[in-house]
Amino acid sequence: MAHEYDLVILGGGTGGYVAAIRASQLGLKTAIVEKEQLGGTCLHKGCIPSKALLRSAEVYRQTINAKSFGVETPEVMLNFGQVQDRKKSIVEQLHNGVKALIKKGKIDVYHGIGRILGPSIFSPMPGTISVEMSGQENEMLLPKNVIIATGSKPRDLNGINVDGQTILSSDHALELEALPSSIIIVGGGVIGIEWASMLADFGVKVTVLEYGDRILPSEDLEVSNEMEKHLVKRGVEIIKNAELLSESIELKDGIRATVHTKGENRSLFAEKLLVAVGRVGNIDGIGLDNTEIECDSNFIKVNDVYQTKEKHIYAIGDVIGGMQLAHIASHEGIAAVEHIANGEKKQLDYTNVARCIYSYPEAASIGLTEEQAKNKGINIKVGKFPFKGIGKALVYGDAEGFVKIIADQDTNDLIGVHMIGPHVTDLISETALGMLLDATPWEIGETIHPHPSLSEIIGEAALAVEGRAIHF
Ligand code: FAD
Repeated sequence: MAHEYDLVILGGGTGGYVAAIRASQLGLKTAIVEKEQLGGTCLHKGCIPSKALLRSAEVYRQTINAKSFGVETPEVMLNFGQVQDRKKSIVEQLHNGVKALIKKGKIDVYHGIGRILGPSIFSPMPGTISVEMSGQENEMLLPKNVIIATGSKPRDLNGINVDGQTILSSDHALELEALPSSIIIVGGGVIGIEWASMLADFGVKVTVLEYGDRILPSEDLEVSNEMEKHLVKRGVEIIKNAELLSESIELKDGIRATVHTKGENRSLFAEKLLVAVGRVGNIDGIGLDNTEIECDSNFIKVNDVYQTKEKHIYAIGDVIGGMQLAHIASHEGIAAVEHIANGEKKQLDYTNVARCIYSYPEAASIGLTEEQAKNKGINIKVGKFPFKGIGKALVYGDAEGFVKIIADQDTNDLIGVHMIGPHVTDLISETALGMLLDATPWEIGETIHPHPSLSEIIGEAALAVEGRAIHF
């Protein structure tokens, strides 16, 4: 029997389930097809479990260093099994929350592999969804509209066989039952650096291989340099301009590999290797060949309202590429649903989306980097303020890093904010709101920030743009 819907969403990750909830609020009869678990990568293999592990690593590091706060601990022991149990219980709690929201929205969930069919006896247009459910007959769903929200998976590297034992993706690393003594991390992007920081805090010997000439290549150069300085200080080795020679990889009691860097070859050994070189869209096996939908190097092409070449089939989230972030996926999902429900054209301003890195120290940014602004020929003015000038940061025991605000000299517009230091992944939101409301550095500087608070650094950095910072 075929089931009729206003909307079927392929993939119940952050983008998919949030879109479903909005669709239900707007009165659309909605179903989600999910082959694994509601919540997707973010909840089960990404944002939440990785941040739970990072938090345990932070507590471990802080406990080891507690003496400087006057707190003495005879011996600090790490129970990695308990670390993993804590992570699992947080994920489970949130997973139950998502399931409850979906139930509350009366959204049907089909647990199986969804595939888009071409024109058939069910419909003259492509878009019927066949759901392959284990041990049961396929279900047929007849939607008026479809949203593809199938997300992404780790990108392969030079045909290196990610075996899940010695050579890992981030999916495998999250499930480690014991910590390795040493690890090589290939990729100095966001995921690679979060893992490097976390494992270094847990006492693992970490080597990061970065193909480019700096880690965090999409961040402001000063933030990249500051992050490198901190990681190196904590014992992380960072090898830049590094190319892993895949043919040199030998697995025996760990991994031996040769890395080519600046004309010389270096031999490395570690117990494990983590490949963190980006992610590609999940576009295989979902029936795109039954449609006119176009792709561009592993990602689905969409227009400015997230429609594919088939106007009743939308795509959102990681599967369309761009900034692969959970908050982007959910906002794209909402925008697509509002277009389906009432034709509303809600365009996201991608320059106004905060990007966060949850390593130690944390980093966060929004808008253009200084290099990007200069390359665009914008006449800029920059204000920078260090955390060591902020009383609360000293009280907190974490006064490394800075906030840098970039404004347009001619228009006074805020065009970029870059932060590295304590709690910047929370502090960034004030400047995101500032950008949305078109605030000038003067207005942010005039905002009275409570004392003592870490947020004072935003006011001081904004004042610094005009050469008016008080405490530095
Ligand atoms: P996904 O969450 O990947 O969901 C896609 C869903 O589709 C999956 O559940 C999958 O099972 C399902 N699916 C795929 N194919 C089919 C099919 N044929 N039939 C049925 N179901 C299917 N982002 C942040 O914003 N902050 C972070 O701190 C952060 N940390 C991260 C850490 C790691 C280690 C990783 C890997 C990612 C992280 N991300 C983070 C990125 C974030 O997880 C993604 O941007 C987000 O999950 C994208 O949501 P999505 O809905 O597009 O896709």
